[in-house]
Amino acid sequence: VLEIDDVSKRFRSGGLLSARTVEAVKNVSFTLEADRPEVFAIVGQSGSGKSTLANMILGSEMPSAGRIRVHGEDITDARSARQRIDFMRRVQPIFQNPFEAFNPLTRIDSYLFSTARRFRDATGAKAQEALADEALQLVGLTIEEVRGRYSHELSGGQLQRIAVARALIPQPDLIVADEPVSMVDASLRMSIVNLFKDLRDRLGVTIVYITHDLATAYYIADRLIIMKSGEIVEQGPAKAVLDDPQHPYSRALRDAIL
Ligand code: ATP
Ligand code: MG
Repeated sequence: VLEIDDVSKRFRSGGLLSARTVEAVKNVSFTLEADRPEVFAIVGQSGSGKSTLANMILGSEMPSAGRIRVHGEDITDARSARQRIDFMRRVQPIFQNPFEAFNPLTRIDSYLFSTARRFRDATGAKAQEALADEALQLVGLTIEEVRGRYSHELSGGQLQRIAVARALIPQPDLIVADEPVSMVDASLRMSIVNLFKDLRDRLGVTIVYITHDLATAYYIADRLIIMKSGEIVEQGPAKAVLDDPQHPYSRALRDAIL
């Protein structure tokens, strides 16, 4: 479903006179197979390049070098508007701050209905509501619980669930979740982490799950990579990485959680 082929990203940063180049992502490669839905975790400390990689997978950032393919289709090529919408349907984001995903002036239910209209061609109110309700039920909510509500009337945990429901409406093949629980109450975190595993099992959707926490990655992921300064230093099945990390950096991370 996703092929990351020797991808690098350089940013120019600093002032006009003191410009310097930051290599946020360096020669990263991995492949997620379409016929084997999994939770794939990207682990790394702040600044290791996780979000830059996520943004390239989501198509909101272009690699400086390398190729990204979704179902074999090169998304790093110039895309027509039609291809772009199709791509957006297939790959859905979940952001760290769920409030960012919702316009504060738009009712949550209207937002879900417009997602159904845009990505599922649901034109009638009934059809839109049915799709929204089905998606909400997959995350343990119902349309009645969100009807007429605005984002500021809901908790971060509720809103993150709704963000996941919204991401499901387009029937994506891939969900990219960038630190999805870091702004959610500790008491609600596990239920949202578990939700991603549940979606893998029930819908067969592949999840790229980004976290700075190796313990969470171990809990949720089938496979994981550990990034340091933009590079992959460790990769493999979550259990193998925890049992026998190869790189001194991942060994230190592992020892810190045991
Ligand atoms: P965090 O855990 O804090 O979210 P991260 O692993 O997501 O960190 P990135 O946000 O991908 O890290 O950043 C990787 C590096 O690239 C950092 O050094 C960052 O300063 C730099 N960087 C990211 N985006 C830009 C940008 N638009 N312009 C310049 N530098 C950037
Ligand atoms: Mg980040």
